[in-house]
Amino acid sequence: MTKAVVVGSGPNGLAAALTLAAEGVEVEVLEAAPTIGGGTRTSELTLPGLLHDECSGFHPLAVDTPFARRFDLSRHGLRWRWPEVQYSHPLDGGGGAAAWRSPDATAAALGADGRAWRQVFGWLTSRFDDIAEDFLRPMLHLPAHPVKLARFGALAALPATALASRWSTPQGRALFAGVAAHALRPFASPMSSAIGVALGTAAHRYGWPVAEGGSAAIARALAGLLAEHGGKVRTGITVTSLDELGSADVVMLDVAPSAAARIAGERLPPRVRRALTRYRHGPGVFKVEFAVREGVPWQHEESRHAGTVHVGGSLAEIAAAEREVHRGRMPTRPFVLVGQQYLADPSRAAGDVVPVYAYAHVPQGWAADATVAIERQIERFAPGFRDRVLARHVRSARQLQEYNPNYVGGDVVTGANDALQLVFRPRVALDPYRLGVPGVYLCSAATPPGAGAHGMCGYNAARSALRELRGKGAGCS
Ligand SMILES: Cc1cc2nc3c(=O)[nH]c(=O)nc-3n(C[C@H](O)[C@H](O)[C@H](O)COP(=O)(O)OP(=O)(O)OC[C@H]3O[C@@H](n4cnc5c(N)ncnc54)[C@H](O)[C@@H]3O)c2cc1C
Repeated sequence: MTKAVVVGSGPNGLAAALTLAAEGVEVEVLEAAPTIGGGTRTSELTLPGLLHDECSGFHPLAVDTPFARRFDLSRHGLRWRWPEVQYSHPLDGGGGAAAWRSPDATAAALGADGRAWRQVFGWLTSRFDDIAEDFLRPMLHLPAHPVKLARFGALAALPATALASRWSTPQGRALFAGVAAHALRPFASPMSSAIGVALGTAAHRYGWPVAEGGSAAIARALAGLLAEHGGKVRTGITVTSLDELGSADVVMLDVAPSAAARIAGERLPPRVRRALTRYRHGPGVFKVEFAVREGVPWQHEESRHAGTVHVGGSLAEIAAAEREVHRGRMPTRPFVLVGQQYLADPSRAAGDVVPVYAYAHVPQGWAADATVAIERQIERFAPGFRDRVLARHVRSARQLQEYNPNYVGGDVVTGANDALQLVFRPRVALDPYRLGVPGVYLCSAATPPGAGAHGMCGYNAARSALRELRGKGAGCS
């Protein structure tokens, strides 16, 4: 029987394992941490009964993918829950902007900027299923929908500041700035719109849902299905070399490129080793989990109903903060993402005490405390917030890397989203999952389509391995 070892049990490692096991491969997953899940763990980090997502919280790109259609994770308890407002953006003085599932409702609330919002996001939303089919794969392929992909690409290629100039009101510009900041790129750089355009469109097409009971439900469901197919998982095992993996026919590495270079060592062809060791990481994040009595008292009404709140003020302020972070300097007013998952999933709260998730963009490897900067930013739009905080759990960018080595320097997206790495990651290759060592593949978020708990990197990598196995006539169904 064909045997595979998967190193790392993040959503991509588990997705790769499941895809292989479902085709009759005997699979074992080895995980360094005591629990499975990588970026999809949920724990009581502050007070008993409060469920905090340790990493990923929102899953717009996991709802409807080829992987999600192939494997029914709901059979193992995965349920998506949507907030009323997908994301919001408070501004000074109590106003702000918000994105609903409906592009029309969002446009209507934006007033003078509604038409431009509809022009960008309305058209893309109705065609997003086709567009996603192309961008959830490695870029070097014959597109199934070239015209739609080209229109998406024309917007994605723009610097965020250029695309934002389509909006004229502070609300319209800020709403786009908040979603564009997810790229962790300077707003003036090429393709810094790409992530904002994709996530903004996904908010209208799929919403920004949370997993009922916490993101750990994703890992539980993946592991449940994997066990059904005979796959095994062992925790507490850190793999340092391919030599430790015995006679596996397939090895899937759910690790950062530099770790893959160490694990595969001298077996890697020099050009692949060079590409993996030169792979670039982006800025880090500093994360604080709060236990808050009665939630955050946002002045902006819609933010009280939003799953995600982008905190950072105007487009110009966020652009300046992102530029600073990129230059290795900590801004006084950083961009902060606040998650209110409990609004969509009240099971995470304990009475009137609720879990609130927040992280700030900080320079790569930043070890200093950013709690005060984060609280000041929230307090600016929600006076009285600090008085409601009952407990905190803090993790710096450096501690994030200690928690999970895939987040090098606190880089939560496993690789800088610069123009080259957005299109080709971890290197320019027709099949970017192959490492040039027979049977060894990279399947982490450092491969296409990139960061997120969607499992598509693992699914694509496993399909590449299955194609190669079939080519060799190996025994999998
Ligand atoms: C704070 C934060 C917020 C985020 N928010 C979101 C969000 O809202 N939505 C979203 O979609 N994504 C979000 N992400 C990103 C998302 O979590 C990741 O992109 C995703 O988890 C990547 O999955 P992966 O399987 O590639 O790697 P990971 O989930 O990082 O898993 C890798 C696993 O491999 C293990 N491992 C590594 N090296 C070894 C080794 N040598 N031996 C054995 N095991 C090893 C690690 O312990 C880990 O368990 C966030 C991430 C963070 C940190």
